[in-house]
Amino acid sequence: MADGADRGPAAGAAGGRAPAQAPERAMWCDERFDFQATFLQCLAKHVPNIYSAEMDPLAEKQEEMVQAAILYPLECYLFGEDPDIFLEKLQQSGTSQLCGKVFKGGETTYSCRDCAVDPTCVLCIDCFQNSIHKNHRYKMHSSTGGGFCDCGDTEAWKAGPLCTKHEPGASSSPKENSECQLNEEIMEHSRRVFPSVIRYIVDMLIWEEEKELPVELTISREKVDSYYCVLFNDEHHSYDHVIYSLQRALGCELGEAQLHTTAIDKEGRRAVKAGHYASCQEAKEEIKRHSENVSQRPLHVEVLHADVMAHQKFALRLGSWLNKLMSYSSDFRQIFCQICLKEEAGSEKPCFISKLMLWDARLHKGARKVLHELIFSSFFMEMEYKKLFAVEFVKYYKALQKEYISDDHDRVLSVTALSVQMFTVPTLARHLIEEQNVITTITETLLEVLPEYLDKNDKFNFQGYSQDKLNRVYSVIYDLRYILVSKPTVWTDRLRERFLEGFVSFLRILTCMQGMEEIKRQIGQHIEVDPDWEAAIAIQMQLKNILLMFQEWCACDEELLLRSYRECHRAVMRCSTNGRSREKTVFHLCGHTLESRPYRVSADPVSIHLPLSRTLAGLHVRLSKTGAISRLHEFVSPEEFQVELLVEYPLRCLVLVAQVAAEMWRRNGLSLISQVFYYQDVKCREEMYDKDIIMLQIGASLMDPNQFLLLILQRYELADAFKKIKPTKDQDLIKQYNVLIEEMLQILIYVVGERYVPGISNVTKEDVIMREIIHLLCIEPMAHSAITKSLPENENNETGLENVIDKVATFKKPGVSGHGVYELKDECLKEFNMFFYHYTKTQHSKAEHTQKKRRKQENRDEALPPPSPPDFSPAFSNVVRILNCDVMMHILRTLLQRAVELETHLWTEAMIQMVLHLLSLGLLEEKQQLQKSPEEEVTFDFYHKATRMGSSALNAVNVLMLLEKLKRVPQLEAQKDTVNWILQMFDMVKRLREKSSLATVGATSGSEAAKGDESSQEKEKAERKRKAEAARLHRQKIMAQMSALQRNFIETHKLLYENTLEAQGKDDAIMEEESTSSAIDYSRIALGPKRGPSVTEKEVLTCILCQEEQEVKLESAAMVLSACVQKSTALTQNRSRILELSGDTLDPLFMHPDLPCGTHTGSCGHVMHAACWQKYFEAMQLNFRQRLHVEQIFDLENGEYLCPLCKSLCNTVIPIVPLQAQKINSEDAEAVAQILSLARWLETVTVRISGYSVKNIKGEKQSLPPFTNKGTGNSALEFHSILSFGVQSSAKYSSSIKEMLILFATTIYRVGLKVAPNEADSRIPMMTWSTCAFTIQCIENLLETEGKPLFGSLQNRQHSGLKALVQFAAAQRTTSPQLLIQKHLIRLLGVLLPNYKGEDTPSLLEVDMFHILVGAVLSFPSLYWEDAVDLQPSSISSAYNHLYLFHLTTLAHIMQIVISSATESPTAHTSDNSEEAQSAQSFCREVCQYTSGCFSQDIPGWLVWDCVKKGIMPYLRCAALFFHYLLGVSPPEELLQVSEEGQFKALCSYLSLPTNLFQLFHEYWDTVNPLLQRWCADPVVLSCLKGKSIAIRYPRKRNHLIELPEDYSCLLNQASQFRCPRSSDDEQKHPVLCLFCGAMLCSQNTCCQELVNGEELGACTSHALQCGAGVCMFLKIRECKVVLIEGKTRGCLYPAPYLDEYGETDPGLKRGNPLHLCQERYRKLHLLWQQHCIIEEIARSQETNQIFFGFNWQLL
Ligand SMILES: [Zn+2]
Ligand SMILES: [Zn+2]
Ligand SMILES: [Zn+2]
Ligand SMILES: [Zn+2]
Ligand SMILES: [Zn+2]
Ligand SMILES: [Zn+2]
Ligand SMILES: [Zn+2]
Repeated sequence: MADGADRGPAAGAAGGRAPAQAPERAMWCDERFDFQATFLQCLAKHVPNIYSAEMDPLAEKQEEMVQAAILYPLECYLFGEDPDIFLEKLQQSGTSQLCGKVFKGGETTYSCRDCAVDPTCVLCIDCFQNSIHKNHRYKMHSSTGGGFCDCGDTEAWKAGPLCTKHEPGASSSPKENSECQLNEEIMEHSRRVFPSVIRYIVDMLIWEEEKELPVELTISREKVDSYYCVLFNDEHHSYDHVIYSLQRALGCELGEAQLHTTAIDKEGRRAVKAGHYASCQEAKEEIKRHSENVSQRPLHVEVLHADVMAHQKFALRLGSWLNKLMSYSSDFRQIFCQICLKEEAGSEKPCFISKLMLWDARLHKGARKVLHELIFSSFFMEMEYKKLFAVEFVKYYKALQKEYISDDHDRVLSVTALSVQMFTVPTLARHLIEEQNVITTITETLLEVLPEYLDKNDKFNFQGYSQDKLNRVYSVIYDLRYILVSKPTVWTDRLRERFLEGFVSFLRILTCMQGMEEIKRQIGQHIEVDPDWEAAIAIQMQLKNILLMFQEWCACDEELLLRSYRECHRAVMRCSTNGRSREKTVFHLCGHTLESRPYRVSADPVSIHLPLSRTLAGLHVRLSKTGAISRLHEFVSPEEFQVELLVEYPLRCLVLVAQVAAEMWRRNGLSLISQVFYYQDVKCREEMYDKDIIMLQIGASLMDPNQFLLLILQRYELADAFKKIKPTKDQDLIKQYNVLIEEMLQILIYVVGERYVPGISNVTKEDVIMREIIHLLCIEPMAHSAITKSLPENENNETGLENVIDKVATFKKPGVSGHGVYELKDECLKEFNMFFYHYTKTQHSKAEHTQKKRRKQENRDEALPPPSPPDFSPAFSNVVRILNCDVMMHILRTLLQRAVELETHLWTEAMIQMVLHLLSLGLLEEKQQLQKSPEEEVTFDFYHKATRMGSSALNAVNVLMLLEKLKRVPQLEAQKDTVNWILQMFDMVKRLREKSSLATVGATSGSEAAKGDESSQEKEKAERKRKAEAARLHRQKIMAQMSALQRNFIETHKLLYENTLEAQGKDDAIMEEESTSSAIDYSRIALGPKRGPSVTEKEVLTCILCQEEQEVKLESAAMVLSACVQKSTALTQNRSRILELSGDTLDPLFMHPDLPCGTHTGSCGHVMHAACWQKYFEAMQLNFRQRLHVEQIFDLENGEYLCPLCKSLCNTVIPIVPLQAQKINSEDAEAVAQILSLARWLETVTVRISGYSVKNIKGEKQSLPPFTNKGTGNSALEFHSILSFGVQSSAKYSSSIKEMLILFATTIYRVGLKVAPNEADSRIPMMTWSTCAFTIQCIENLLETEGKPLFGSLQNRQHSGLKALVQFAAAQRTTSPQLLIQKHLIRLLGVLLPNYKGEDTPSLLEVDMFHILVGAVLSFPSLYWEDAVDLQPSSISSAYNHLYLFHLTTLAHIMQIVISSATESPTAHTSDNSEEAQSAQSFCREVCQYTSGCFSQDIPGWLVWDCVKKGIMPYLRCAALFFHYLLGVSPPEELLQVSEEGQFKALCSYLSLPTNLFQLFHEYWDTVNPLLQRWCADPVVLSCLKGKSIAIRYPRKRNHLIELPEDYSCLLNQASQFRCPRSSDDEQKHPVLCLFCGAMLCSQNTCCQELVNGEELGACTSHALQCGAGVCMFLKIRECKVVLIEGKTRGCLYPAPYLDEYGETDPGLKRGNPLHLCQERYRKLHLLWQQHCIIEEIARSQETNQIFFGFNWQLL
């Protein structure tokens, strides 16, 4: 027994659990012994040893030792048998019905909108996928961590609480044993073991002595002086701070400091130094000192004795052991919970679990995690114990919250975050309210944590608040929301009392808010600092739903409602004291008087925070709705009620808003503007603005209407404005008055007209939402998300939108970009109310404009009268009386009179519009009343009042007369239709009054009544029509003029308009077609004696910089095309190939047939003078040097710039070299053919090459074997023979063109090889040919995948880019030494002509043949160069050179195809016996011979032909493009269309090939035969034929972005199973999917960073270097965003190609709707890649979104 710990490693080697030592186990098994003592003894002995090496812990070894020495014996004792066997049995017997999975940060959670009781009810992905909710309207979100899966909780789900996995009986085990019962013995043991274990854990976790251990644990050991200096995690110090402090304090390396810091962040603490007490203490002080230097606060450091540290660590290990055990059996859980809850008899001390909770804020991160997990796996899995836990939790609630508020860890790491798990369970909530008075507890907590913000009047004031602290306070507010989230259906007396108690307590909080943060208008001087307003508004936002929920709860029960109303009313009254000291004053107008205490918003303090008044308003409408209002007097006596006082404060607030609009509060700064904004914004308005309007309605319904209006006039400080005394001449003041009048009229319109509140009228919540949506859509069609954002959310985050949207709107699907929108249904248009109270000023005018325009288009009048409002409920029916009261009439008449009298400065059109609106409301009301009741009963006499004279004066007028006059006011032309409508209404109401019989009128509705005056209406209609027609003609004329102008403009600025749009590209393609059609008679063959003429046009280009035109000529100054060179893996056939990151030693002459990485040159097609461009570039450099601190979008050092016109990212320019037109006489040429056969040509070339070799490659004496028998013996005469078929002098390029040729070639070299520029490097020509070939291949590939014809369908920018590139590549040769070119050429030919094969010449199967073709054709003219005599082949010579070079490469390529398809097995037995098949067959026989049978002769000829024909297509298409752009010969018509068969024939014809390709071998048999033999003898070829290696198949596969699942949750599922390949911890991961190759990477995490060239790169960045040669496309799965990155410094975000059912993307899964793949959008991404536009996209996005600069793309 004594050696228990020492044998650790040896025992561990046995793997996992080692058998315990017999005596030890035996002793534990002894029933009589004291378990507690033995257990502690055992720990005392082993634990310090096991955890001795804290500085450098070997986690695996420690774990083995723990298992062997402690856990295994413990389990043996506990279970009474082998733990593995026992647990296996237990596992099978099924576990809890609750899932209980605890979420880590970033994991996706699912909620069902149909079935979840509240939005906090969530499922884990496994449960969700196996639940019925999969087919419901679900939401998915990213967890912040700490929540848990509610699967199995019947209270969380209205339906389907269990997934199929957790359904009883679903597991494979027999059902009868579904809840395993432990036998009594094990239970007994558990009851012995658990208390000791738990006690040990609790004791150790809350142990505070640094140096000492509890006595029980110190026995049998000598105390040693061994300590650790332990550093703790906090949220104040950044990673870098900690690293810095550690490096300084401990003098350690960066790497070590980083290691410590990462561990501290993960575990929460770590030993950073071991040693004697004194040295640790010293280190502690050092660390504190250094950390204080960087960030004010010192780091938390402690010195702990090694044994203390060891035991604490083991305590946590025991915690996770228990945690695991909990999952096996309900009995274990129950026993555990019982012990945790057991209070010591007679002791005041909290039970174990409470102790831990109370200690939580003092525990380090790692310990908290273990503790919380333990709570989840035990208490939360047993409903009964969850309740008991909740009771304990509430018992210590205040203490816990206070601890949390002063803690510095995130909420997810706090035990207080568990509240949501308990408070949202309805039965638990009920219980906690009834038994624990939880509402009061929470509100009191809130009051206790906020006192520092109370001012002398006991009102809150958040000036100088701490954001972090307030955020912590919000969590208490959240708890209130959780508790209230589900309204009880059954009320007990106790519940009612407790709730009311809670409500009263809550009113105390509101009391502290009522009138808080008062402000006073600043006069004269601007305020110095904007006060903090955000905190108060933020709290208001947090409280909004809680206020609504309280009101809802109150309204559950009439008694409760009335009692809470009384409490609330009292609270309001208590707060409504100020101003009482002032003397009342009297205000007279039109014979009415108002007595009130003077108060002016513009001079006295005012607050917009009135939650008490607003709660009262909310309760009031509920009284009205339930009818309980009839009993109100029993609770609040009429004397107490004091309606004027209730109205006073909300009215002041509305006046404040009006005065702000009138710019009277300019000097109070932005803070006030923001507050006013939020006051009316959707996030707050329900409990602010809306309630204030309701309060005015309450006032209007209970006060005398004239008095009410007088009060309003007085508070708006407009009493003078309506008196006959003329106001001042001061323009500003007049303007101010006008705005105030408008604002007041608007409020009056709202008071009378806004009735869509349940209780104010008889509408439902659905009606209310419908009306909101209708008014939003009256502005314009809107996306789902936009509508959602404009609607208030309820406590369940629902807006109710779904239920009604289809009733009022139709959905329109989105295109490739943009989003789907809802359009209002026509039948809803009549609901439009121009003065809808939730419109902002902009929305109001936009909506008015839209609706007027619509009516005009429908050829209707432009009147937009109010819709008939619903009737007020009885409690509010008196409100309408303000319409026909004297003061109102006075107001209306005064304003109309001012308009008619043309006192222009005293009225505005908006004002008149509102007057008209009020008139309409009055008439509508009277009409409605008349239609409902007999005329004599209708006392609402608006008509009568309006037609009465304003005074007895002679010139007195009534409203009706004024209206008639109004029609003639020129400024009010736009209101004429409305005035007419009102006049007709007058007429109708008059007739209704006159006719006492109701029956006939009843049916006539408002708009129909307008038909009254038939003839005048007809006339007006005709007039309108005539006007409309005139307007149309006028428009047409203007349009014609415009388009003429435009055409001119386009012509003069043609280049500006080119190729920015694909559509325009098409037009250009047509133009090109037209231009080529003139050459229709000419031969359309590019190669050989029959080649057609070059079709060239004089090219006159305009420089986009100086706008001057210039013709492109060899000898003139260079013009250039902006271009971007980039490395590309777009065509790769093998992504696993490792790319060389630097090309220092790379030989780029040969391209591997896998096309692993090429150099692509693209252009945006914009032309500049070389000189202009240089100037532009230099200016930009200068500019940026001056702005040192501006982070650059582009890398000037590397030549990057943005195209001056289209802002594409470019890094070079392509010089535009004109095509040298060539034309040959076919007859002459054919004559030449007689002598210049392929054999002869080869011979000449051979001689030339060998002559060259002998002469020029001294020292490198390759003995080149003679190609033909005649050999080289034939003297120097043959040596020059190549010249004999025609030469001409080389083109002379202007020096500026030459300069540009060199510049561009060097860029290709630099970028393509990632090396420093070197104009003299021999690889420059190779890179030139390579980028030319590769770019053509990319374009061919793109055209094919897009299904476009080879010619004529290129975008203009691609066309001009390619043209310039090919011509450049041909001209580049002249800037290099010809000897060098010749040397390259010989190496290229070496592949085709094995005689010349050097050591480094690759085999036939290791090269891409098209690259060889391009290189050979472009370098071939160098053979004509001789000792500084600069000659080039004549047109005829070129024609043959091209033909033979092409035929040779084609033969070689056919050979490649045949060899690689040799292993193909026939798929169908179509015995095709065509001529081609036969030729193929005979060819194969030959090949078979030369390979000594390696090539199987059995392959049917038709199959070989089929393979060749398919395989050769891309090559032929590339060749056709190449020769076309090189020579300018028009292609055959067939290539301008898409057709399989026609294309092949046309290609063969254009390229001078027989359609039976094997004919080619036949034709040249004598020459080709020896080549064939040599090719076949190549070892690589043979090994491939033997099946030992695999050659690339042709045609090559075309790359696509990986296939994505249709349903986004599949991806989320994948992500949830993702495990980081480098670390096993369960920290939050960001799985990212490479869309090129499908690799899943661990992004933004230190574990997967890679060191590349001495730099730390994130997983994505380093993957991109390989996968996409630096440019790559990823999908961040958890965020649903695509990331484009380039290199290490640049990247951008792009919406993922997934759309929800509303046609919208969801970056960040904020909306959380189910998402489905949109193929069109994914295709767009694919094109972005294949067109090499990713870099461009990134640059563009960085231009517009400069915000991304802050992101460190390198670490992605
Ligand atoms: Zn689950
Ligand atoms: Zn489940
Ligand atoms: Zn559901
Ligand atoms: Zn220019
Ligand atoms: Zn451009
Ligand atoms: Zn990849
Ligand atoms: Zn990782």
